[in-house]
Amino acid sequence: MSTHHDHTQGCACTRAAGREKPQGCECTQTQGHPGRPQDAALRADGLAGNPHALKTLPDGTPPLRLIAWEVTRSCNLACKHCRAEAHTEPYPGEFSTEEAKALIDTFPETGSPIIIFTGGEPLMRPDIFELVAHARSKGLRSVMAPNGTLITPENARRMKETGIARCSISIDGAESASHDAFRGVPGAFEAAMRGIACLKAEGIEFQINTTVTKSNLGHFKEIFTLAQRLGAAAWHIFLLVPMGRAAGLAEEVITAREYEEVLNWFYDFRKTTSMHLKATCAPHYYRIMRQRARAEGLAVTPESFGMDALTRGCLGGTGFCFISHTGQVQPCGYLELDCGNVRTTPFPEIWRSSKHFLEFRTPADYQGKCGVCEYHKVCGGCRARAHSLTGNHLAQEPLCTYTPKKRS
Ligand code: SF4
Ligand code: SF4
Repeated sequence: MSTHHDHTQGCACTRAAGREKPQGCECTQTQGHPGRPQDAALRADGLAGNPHALKTLPDGTPPLRLIAWEVTRSCNLACKHCRAEAHTEPYPGEFSTEEAKALIDTFPETGSPIIIFTGGEPLMRPDIFELVAHARSKGLRSVMAPNGTLITPENARRMKETGIARCSISIDGAESASHDAFRGVPGAFEAAMRGIACLKAEGIEFQINTTVTKSNLGHFKEIFTLAQRLGAAAWHIFLLVPMGRAAGLAEEVITAREYEEVLNWFYDFRKTTSMHLKATCAPHYYRIMRQRARAEGLAVTPESFGMDALTRGCLGGTGFCFISHTGQVQPCGYLELDCGNVRTTPFPEIWRSSKHFLEFRTPADYQGKCGVCEYHKVCGGCRARAHSLTGNHLAQEPLCTYTPKKRS
């Protein structure tokens, strides 16, 4: 997932997050499916259901639940769908160790966010474990989104030591030919498999992330089977957002109809496995889930749908944000809206008062059918896709087939 926007990233339904931590409670359980602690870490959605989550910060701002921090843009791979269009050379303007630590020091003012150390390839940064350890010293939990190829026994041991709770590894094909073709590097698949073996040897939980494209749509079952065989804690599917290097992949973007079909398939397939499956940055999955559940006479509750019942499709700007390698804050990695730069404005101030974040928190600011949709609270549409395909981040989601009851 290194180059995916970790979209591990997504949008916290503040409605769902509204359970206060009981006074005096020292329990460290912070997220995840009730009774399924392995759902921790990279599940942005799970954060929304944190039984101890703050409803709001003292000034009424929604608490930040997850930060994807592009600690470096350098990467050793050249994936076709890379939003960062990363290359191996160092990028100018990246944070020094001291600057990075000072930024971490500001995070607790925004809530108790989980940090996703991402890139680029986060393991390309020589001080990565110093930063993870620093985050832990501030009481923050960290996960990592490496591409898997640079995970060695030594790196895995240091992840364990410094407290990385989970790693996400992107697998976009069920075997080396298709995965390597997508990743742009021969041997990437085998290298990722070796990386996963190192994680397993250290007992570090991992999830498999798969970007949905026309090329791999027909092989989803095989990719899932691979994730299961490898012992992944979760399988997350991502819908390609055409930007960065992926902008040239227009032929790989599935249609609105295919999108609807794959999310319906996902809804059914989810019932066949105990592995946690999540459709990430596929906001209208949360609409489809409710439509399907209603048709089946099921109530959508945490008991029946786990944390999926408590989260929202897009978390960007409401419970999640992205910080670029130069300190630009954005709603997510796929949406390059400048919400402020931590080098000139304190990060907590950006989170509280950025114009764009305030827009994302105001349903009336959404346009077209997403502005009137009865599923707005649980979906919201993908703002990055709206921006990429229409130039307007508040426009209606271009790949949604739904017609709201109230017309825009
Ligand atoms: S804007 Fe789209 S890509 Fe970004 S967090 Fe929201 S759903 Fe994900
Ligand atoms: S119209 Fe917009 S808010 Fe409604 S389901 Fe579609 S994408 Fe979601």
